Amino acid sequence: MAEEQIKNNLALLIETIEGKYSADDVELVRLAFDFADQAHRGQIRISGEPYITHPLATAQKLAELGLDPTMIIASLLHDVPEDTSLTLKDIEKNFGEEIAKLVQGITKLGTLKYRGMDRYAENLRKMFIAMSEDIRVIFIKFADRLHNLKTLQCLPPGKQQRIALETLEIYAPIADRLSMGIIKGELEDLAFPFIYPEDYKWLTEILPQEYRTKEKLLEKIQNVVTEKFKENNITPENISIQGRTKHLYSLYKKLLRPQINRDLSKIYDLIALRLIVPTIADCYSVLGIIHNLYRPVPGTINDYIAQPKPNGYRSLHTTVFTADGEIVEFQIRTQEMHAEAEFGVAAHWNYKESGGQINSRQLKWLDELVQWQKQIKDNDQFIQTVKFDVFQNRIFVLTPKGDVIDLPEGATPIDFAYHVHSNLGNKCVGAKVNDQLVNLAQQLKSGDIIEIIIDKNRKSPNPDWLELAKTSVTRSKIRTALNKIKTAERTKLEGKK
Ligand code: MN
Repeated sequence: MAEEQIKNNLALLIETIEGKYSADDVELVRLAFDFADQAHRGQIRISGEPYITHPLATAQKLAELGLDPTMIIASLLHDVPEDTSLTLKDIEKNFGEEIAKLVQGITKLGTLKYRGMDRYAENLRKMFIAMSEDIRVIFIKFADRLHNLKTLQCLPPGKQQRIALETLEIYAPIADRLSMGIIKGELEDLAFPFIYPEDYKWLTEILPQEYRTKEKLLEKIQNVVTEKFKENNITPENISIQGRTKHLYSLYKKLLRPQINRDLSKIYDLIALRLIVPTIADCYSVLGIIHNLYRPVPGTINDYIAQPKPNGYRSLHTTVFTADGEIVEFQIRTQEMHAEAEFGVAAHWNYKESGGQINSRQLKWLDELVQWQKQIKDNDQFIQTVKFDVFQNRIFVLTPKGDVIDLPEGATPIDFAYHVHSNLGNKCVGAKVNDQLVNLAQQLKSGDIIEIIIDKNRKSPNPDWLELAKTSVTRSKIRTALNKIKTAERTKLEGKK
């Protein structure tokens, strides 16, 4: 029975990717499945299902998002090093270095355990670093988490709480910041019943009736506007009624706002009409037509095309009074904006361009991280909702090969050199930042590419560097090196006597 199910799931996965990826990549996906299937043989999930159902579901999710085959292959293998007798080395031998690195990234994140606020900041920071090293790891982690949430009811209550809370406080905000609307919504809605079971029950009980009433109203409106668009020679690619039932948790958060006070009838965008039109010009034309038909509710017109939200979200929103005095929200966007709203950065993610070397896309991504950090610092409200303050005193710099090094604010090339390796520090004679020679006292900034210049004959650090080092780790490494030299000289002196 289970065997049958697994066969069907694998067939579905292959069907999802066939034609989209090269035959070689599809074959690699098959091989990765066989490899993982063998490795996990005999293992059973707490849900009672064979273990392989989990990596398979994870891979399926990534395939449905249309992501790069490397992520699908790595996701099939993602629990192999931790949970089976096969190792990362075995994966590297069979699937190459790139896949092995991705799997390693996921395994590293897997050891994080969220335990209240103390560990919260640390976990968030690790996610952030993993992301800056290779964002594909985060995509796989999201898919992994989604499937784990789907089988969460099988775990003991303590674990359920921990995983659900971590999802709401760490995973969902990150998905939101990457503007992956679909993932954010799914993560939240799966975690919601575990954290607020009573409110979840309350909401799912009161929602259907209110929803049906509004849906009828919107069907009527949809017919009216469709007619008008025809008269004006505009053919929307898609008009759909969008229910907030898909995003229960975000609806719940809205209900908790003081001015709404749990009154569902005050949520005007419980369902909205979403119009997808061919061009940006059409977006504004459609907005004009709607305002010609219905009077807008003052203060509800939002032009997120001219001024996108911080996460990049673009659309026109307006809320209007209908002829019956009802209130209805419209969301107007192009297909491209729609894809960005649903898939976020993943919508543009094509990793094929990178040969493992640092490239313009990675730099752009790093730049976005830096922007994000800045925004987090500038935005009080954001800090209140998500306590990202842990990033406030960290910078992320790069080695010439593109490895990301995480240092405290105010760090100098000396800290960088000792962070990479004590020997690099001890032999350091200078540094280049973004190809420019700099003073060793220079403070580094996020996004800087640092190259340390060494003299291989140099024996010991300069004692003055103790002043330039920002971290105590660096200072202790410098002291260790200085002490070694002193001891060596003393022995030499004694030898001469
Ligand atoms: Mn997993």
